Amino acid sequence: MLPTQGYAAMTAKTSLQPFSFERREVGPHDVLITITHCGICHSDIHQARDEWGGSIFPMVPGHEIVGIVAQVGLEVKTFKTGDRVGVGCFVDSCRTCGACREGVEQYCEAGMLLTYSGRDKNGRPTQGGYSSQIVVDEHYILRIPSALSSAGAAPLLCAGITTYSPLRHWGIGKYHKVAVVGLGGLGHMAVKIGKALGTEVTVLSTSEQKRKDAERLGGFDFAVTSRRETFTRLQRRFDFILDTVSAPHDYNAYVHLLKTDGTMILVGAPDKPTLLEPFSLILHRRRIAGSVIGGIRETQEMLDFCAAHHIESDGEVIPIQQVNDAYERVIKGDVRFRFVIDLASLK
Ligand code: NAP
Ligand code: ZN
Ligand code: ZN
Repeated sequence: MLPTQGYAAMTAKTSLQPFSFERREVGPHDVLITITHCGICHSDIHQARDEWGGSIFPMVPGHEIVGIVAQVGLEVKTFKTGDRVGVGCFVDSCRTCGACREGVEQYCEAGMLLTYSGRDKNGRPTQGGYSSQIVVDEHYILRIPSALSSAGAAPLLCAGITTYSPLRHWGIGKYHKVAVVGLGGLGHMAVKIGKALGTEVTVLSTSEQKRKDAERLGGFDFAVTSRRETFTRLQRRFDFILDTVSAPHDYNAYVHLLKTDGTMILVGAPDKPTLLEPFSLILHRRRIAGSVIGGIRETQEMLDFCAAHHIESDGEVIPIQQVNDAYERVIKGDVRFRFVIDLASLK
């Protein structure tokens, strides 16, 4: 076993603290990665606090991982020592179901194996990227294009693919008007990627202070959701709404902003349900849909797309000792737009 250092939540109620654990030995198809950077996703906070239920403790969170290959198994063909690579939200899947064969492993019928807070084939809990190293099967590893910085690329492994995948799935492009609800980690990636796809993106935010940021990121329009006037001015404006909000909120108000046949796509994952008023859907044949991250093939496509369009995540790089403060600041919306942990600080 490989001794590994990290930071873990020992329970749902305690802050993260230094934690030593073991990674498995490098098997024939495995790659050992020395982690250099890991983004802080709001999902890390939901899970470290067991807000969705089912969390496994102790938990080392982190699924926006970038690092350098330190060792490869005997059968590994696609990666070599020294390569810069990424790991996202899952590290295995059944590989035989229809979804896996199609390359949409995130919808694996047996369930994808989460990078952390999952249990592998041997029943061992998986542990994530707030740590010095990770061992992952080569099929679940991404290549980081040289044009991207490691800190700017790490959040693409979750925030990037979670917004890219639905934009591509629904064929969203230059003939569409799209609203992005919530300008956080996911939201800011949605604006950048949407703009690169030629879409007119409107940002709907609770915070007037984010108006300038929305413009700088490439947003076409901006509106504050606490103003009633926003909902009259933008009524029936959008073909799609991408909702990235992390806390429970009223979906019905946004549905009214869709055109006939418009689709509201939920990617934000609040811990409590929201009542749905059917008439606003019925009367304009509107849809509400959802989407979770993306498959390995599409994640690589997204990384290459971002490199070609000079898209990285904006954020603050922090030492791991500041992770608990960073969690509080994410919850307050006090980050533009993603914290990324520099794992050199673990030493
Ligand atoms: P984040 O950086 O905290 O951004 C969330 C944004 O939501 C905030 O910046 C804020 O934007 C808005 N918001 C927060 N509280 C709100 C409230 N009470 N009412 C209205 N708006 C509120 O979080 P993130 O990392 O982008 O993640 C967002 C959500 O997506 C989380 O629930 C996360 O678990 C989920 N997620 C889902 C997937 C998936 O595959 N579907 C993948 C990753 C993450 P404004 O300040 O602009 O209002
Ligand atoms: Zn995430
Ligand atoms: Zn499968």
